Amino acid sequence: MSKKINLPKIIHDPNKMNLETVRQKNKKKKIVFIPTMGALHEGHLSLIKKGKKIKGLTIVSIFVNPIQFNDINDLKKYPNTLKKDIENLRQLKVDYLFLPNVEKIFPNNFETTVSINNLQKFLCGKNRPGHFNGVSTIVLKLFNIISPNVAIFGKKDFQQLTIVKKMVEDLNMNIKILEGSIIRESNGLAMSSRNKLLSPKNFHKASNIYKGLKYIKDEYKKGEKSSKKLIKKLEKYYIQSEIRNIDYIEIFDPLTLHSIKYVKKGAIIAIAVKIGAVRLIDNLKF
Ligand code: AMP
Repeated sequence: MSKKINLPKIIHDPNKMNLETVRQKNKKKKIVFIPTMGALHEGHLSLIKKGKKIKGLTIVSIFVNPIQFNDINDLKKYPNTLKKDIENLRQLKVDYLFLPNVEKIFPNNFETTVSINNLQKFLCGKNRPGHFNGVSTIVLKLFNIISPNVAIFGKKDFQQLTIVKKMVEDLNMNIKILEGSIIRESNGLAMSSRNKLLSPKNFHKASNIYKGLKYIKDEYKKGEKSSKKLIKKLEKYYIQSEIRNIDYIEIFDPLTLHSIKYVKKGAIIAIAVKIGAVRLIDNLKF
């Protein structure tokens, strides 16, 4: 009779997770890691499927990291669909789910953080002070607990991806970072756990975020290269679509995140807007 294995194996304790990965690495297993904050959607699942293609052990973490939230209400409202998440991980045959408690990750006497100098000054970092230090700190901690060979991040959080790649380089971490494409709803809206918080009307309105980005890419293809003019056009498009609460629209170099005056191939346009109380981000490569 074949032995029934219940996957994913759920581990709450960081030390146990660490012992388990060390044991597996001693057996020459390649560790593939996908960090998430849960409320899994097709965007997360696409990263996991990418990971499963690599022959190795897949570990997904679900941890809503309190130190990357600068708005306590945003943290309190963050969706939780754990039962469904576990079912999704089971179907994808994920080997381990690392599901730590906040107290185990950030005990009261916790005091060391990673500090990102420049890359956090742009885009989302401008209006979310401390956010990317919080992200880098948790990513480094998770990397230390899990010691993956490969870790996978989505391009949807472009600045986060850039910062993680830089941290890995700067701190000589022997981890290969893979990138997953942005997965979208059928109306074009980039999938996000926060989409669950949108009313049907706002969900529809939010589809204009991506439509606007594509419109700007078309304008660029037709010959407009000035970032300033393209951004003005996009602002106008959004106002007409009743998207008024724009946090930023930036066109920038993908490595340095510095704004550029004239668009060239490979540059990124990224935006953050609030629709109702929900903050949404998206980006597109020229
Ligand atoms: P989160 O749970 O929001 O922290 O996201 C966990 C990982 O999933 C991050 O690497 C995100 O960039 C990635 N991700 C989130 N949304 C999407 C999406 N729509 N398409 C691809 N990757 C995504």
